[in-house]
Amino acid sequence: MLTIVVVLYREKALRSLNKKLNLVLPALVAVAFGLGLNSAYADEPKGQHDLVQPAASHPNAKPGVPAPVKVSSPGGYGHSEGLEYAKTPEYKQEFDKAIQSAKVHCVDFMKANPNSLNKAIISDLDETLLDNRPYFQDVKKDFTWADFEKWVFKAKAPNLPATAEFLKWARDQGFAIIFLTGRPENMRVVTTANLIKNKVAYDGLYMRGDDDKRPASKFKAEVRKKIESMGYKIVVNIGDQESDLAGGFALDGEKLPNKLYFVQ
Ligand SMILES: [Mg+2]
Repeated sequence: MLTIVVVLYREKALRSLNKKLNLVLPALVAVAFGLGLNSAYADEPKGQHDLVQPAASHPNAKPGVPAPVKVSSPGGYGHSEGLEYAKTPEYKQEFDKAIQSAKVHCVDFMKANPNSLNKAIISDLDETLLDNRPYFQDVKKDFTWADFEKWVFKAKAPNLPATAEFLKWARDQGFAIIFLTGRPENMRVVTTANLIKNKVAYDGLYMRGDDDKRPASKFKAEVRKKIESMGYKIVVNIGDQESDLAGGFALDGEKLPNKLYFVQ
């Protein structure tokens, strides 16, 4: 019983610390990360598991059309299939085509709304901006949230260059860059540290509440609704899962390829 109380107290303290850290400048977060706070969190594996493996992504989903929340798996892609696909020209073409389409939508919006001051882009993180293939390459076994969490807490996922370049370009045009990820709040410090390491400039980071068990599609649509209610116009929403795009509150949705896993 005493152990439970101590653990609960420790978790509460860590969560409180996390919230405080989120209020200070990203540079301070980076310093905190450097001092080893990541390892303190790594001792506390917990969080939301909304990655399902193995499963199939649906790379041919029509951009801008809300997808069904549940998608069945026709083939059952696993790590090796997903990793192999990510090495093919088709993957790169599909990725580049979606990013190019996103850029075209931004340009068209700016032409139609030259004085817009509230234009925003919503971007997912994992397999959209952050590349987790080093993790999948290493584990060579079925996905587990605990293993993936250890990787995330290393904060060393590289950028997917096409997305990073697009977001940088868009921000230079005056778009607010707002990240919307299914990663839980207890990963905020390490996620921010990863973005700082990767030299990613952005304007907002929305994460899932630690106890939020809703499907990503529902959680993400609600956040986009909230963002638009604050006055932003979401011009483009990009993500590697249909659940990133479902539910509206964006003028355009761009589906990036991912056959590593499926997020409901
Ligand atoms: Mg993703």
